[in-house]
Amino acid sequence: YPTERIRNFSIIAHVDHGKSTLADRLLELTGTIKRGLGQPQYLDKLQVERERGITVKAQTATMFHRHNLGAPDVDNTQEAPSYLLNLIDTPGHVDFSYEVSRSLAACQGALLVVDAAQGVQAQTVANFYLAFESNLSIIPVINKIDQPTADPQRVKDQLMSMFDLDPADALLTSAKTGLGLEHVLPAVIERIPPPPGISTSNLRMLLLDSYYDEYKGVICHVAVVDGALRKGDKISSAATGQSYDVLDVGFMNPELKSTGMLFTGQVGYVVSGMRSTKEARIGDTLFLARSVVEPLPGFKPVQHMVFSGLYPADGSDFEALNSAIERLTCNDASVSVTKESSTALGLGFRCGFLGLLHMDVFHQRLEQEHGASIISTIPTVPYIFEFTDGSKMKVQNPAALTADAGKRVKKCWEPTVSATIIIPSEYVGAVITLCSDRRGEQLEYTFIDSQRVLLKYRLPLREIVVDFYNELKSITSGYASLDYEDADYQTSDLVKLDILLNGLPVDAMATIVHNLKAQRVGRELVDKLKKFIDRQMFEITIQAAIGSKIVARETISAMRKNVIAKCYGGDITRKKKLLEKQKEGKKRMKRVGSVDIPQEAFHELLKVG
Ligand code: GDP
Ligand code: MG
Repeated sequence: YPTERIRNFSIIAHVDHGKSTLADRLLELTGTIKRGLGQPQYLDKLQVERERGITVKAQTATMFHRHNLGAPDVDNTQEAPSYLLNLIDTPGHVDFSYEVSRSLAACQGALLVVDAAQGVQAQTVANFYLAFESNLSIIPVINKIDQPTADPQRVKDQLMSMFDLDPADALLTSAKTGLGLEHVLPAVIERIPPPPGISTSNLRMLLLDSYYDEYKGVICHVAVVDGALRKGDKISSAATGQSYDVLDVGFMNPELKSTGMLFTGQVGYVVSGMRSTKEARIGDTLFLARSVVEPLPGFKPVQHMVFSGLYPADGSDFEALNSAIERLTCNDASVSVTKESSTALGLGFRCGFLGLLHMDVFHQRLEQEHGASIISTIPTVPYIFEFTDGSKMKVQNPAALTADAGKRVKKCWEPTVSATIIIPSEYVGAVITLCSDRRGEQLEYTFIDSQRVLLKYRLPLREIVVDFYNELKSITSGYASLDYEDADYQTSDLVKLDILLNGLPVDAMATIVHNLKAQRVGRELVDKLKKFIDRQMFEITIQAAIGSKIVARETISAMRKNVIAKCYGGDITRKKKLLEKQKEGKKRMKRVGSVDIPQEAFHELLKVG
């Protein structure tokens, strides 16, 4: 295909506005997948994606469509020239905006999908600006017009007033009934420019993503920016200097389809005998070995917002967890992993995530796809501490502060975000109260139309990651939408909060909190632990402390002898049953010092804040 007949576009939208459904319909319309395949959201392949109904990984599909240029309404005649269209479906949730910006780097245009009833939401705003800043042609698509509450005119007004998008350019669709879908691909071909690459130049391609396939090894998704790539070529990486033989090349249809060749402007895959996905650096430039090219700009590095420790639920399973994490990070390069050890939990890992949902999804995939059984420590954001001796430290694990106990803290900083919240105007009061309770500073207050308000706040990242979204949803009856991007560090009054079991600090339960909230968080943690730790043979005291000051305390009294006697009485089968049950229970226990703590207790601690 000559580049003039290639279009690379993405579908961007607020979560649930219909991206994946629209993508499915376009794949059906072009005969790429069979109509009525029965599988909704064809591109959401992962089990977590299907269960949660969200897209986690961006997916690419190539399709073909006949069209006469300059005849936007006449379409798909047999004589019309065929166009090669690369569609990149993207995740909508704020945690995965990194995937979105990566996908956009391979596109010249985007379909901005907006729910006709809900109108513009927080991620619509964020995604619009991502696309706008990348100079993409934006085609507004007002979807779900089949709904009784649809109000396309209101959405058109919002698009005009907020983004300066001409209402006449908006397409009206229902990805559910198929209404209006015939105008989508002609608009893509008419309004989005072909890729700008130079076909006669040396090969340059951008490495978009990679994953590990059991049979083929490392598979790289690439966008061919200039030149062409053939099977048998020798390619080099600008980042590592390593060279590879191209063993297979083709496009995603959406299953891999080998073509032996990729031309300028195409998006496809390459198999090149890379042994691990660590060699495939996202954002790297690949070029023909021995040719001289200027590397492409690449991507800005991933910002890890949340860190937590991951430990095997069963001490002996460290190696199993290690290999599960290795396999999973092969398909999710946005997680950072380093080994760490904890006095309480033994050997484990410190992982960095894009946000709490990302962390949750990673945990779920470890358990579902790789059979791991894990304990996660309380997530923390990266703080910066400066000590009186002038040294500074980035703290990704609260336990690390103990090592410097001799030093006195002089100053500390915490990361903040700039959050965009869109709500119906009657909820403004409640949301302002929530934001000030979370130490927020108001930056903007705008009416986007007569009924909706956009609020912008600078908030400490920590206040956002712990349950902010759920609370926001609940005080606004589900109507609020939220998006945020990282802002600067600000000075803060932080303290380390320790949890002590029978007088001994448990390093894996330490957190860093704002001084004003330490008492409350300490109380909540102690109460949670009391609820989830079973009575044992001896009394257990649970304390929360800042330094030597105890801020909360509870005790769990010892199990009485007769309770145990009762268990061991009775007939033999009942006894057997109880022992079985005990064994099962034990598997999910972690012994810390002399106290058995169930896995759920760790899980519950994650939600305190
Ligand atoms: P995404 O999060 O943007 O990928 O959204 P999905 O494609 O997963 O769609 C979210 C929900 O909206 C699903 O339950 C879809 O069936 C539904 N949906 C998508 N398009 C339409 C539409 O045009 N009309 C109606 N009524 N529902 C739709
Ligand atoms: Mg989706």
